Amino acid sequence: MPAKSDCIFCEIGQHQADANVVYEDDACIAFKDIHPEAPTHVLVIPKVHIEKFSDFAEQTEIMDTLMRVVLKVVRKLGVEKNSKIAINNGKDAGQIIPHVHVHILSSQKSD
Ligand code: 5GP
Ligand code: ZN
Repeated sequence: MPAKSDCIFCEIGQHQADANVVYEDDACIAFKDIHPEAPTHVLVIPKVHIEKFSDFAEQTEIMDTLMRVVLKVVRKLGVEKNSKIAINNGKDAGQIIPHVHVHILSSQKSD
């Protein structure tokens, strides 16, 4: 599904909702978490609506693209030696926003 109308992360990906964007390309967008849990807390999402990590099953190309962007953003933020990369897969695991997103967290601050 390209984008879902009631999805806040689809809206951010389409610039229909505000976000503090740190990186963007045609496929993905990275932005600061609105309620940071660490000095650096950035979320990376594919612009297409995929609900959760498990749903990547048939879409390995997007998964590959997303993880490459995660690495790019980690480097851009300068936290490659100190970062936690996390995905909450499903609401029972604490996934609140049903649009797959990768958390980049670091005890190191970045701009
Ligand atoms: P989850 O628990 O689903 O893995 O994490 C969702 C994350 O999205 C949370 O850390 C939450 O603070 C963040 N978040 C929720 N809504 C928004 C929003 O509208 N903008 C931004 N920048 N972050 C959001
Ligand atoms: Zn979405």
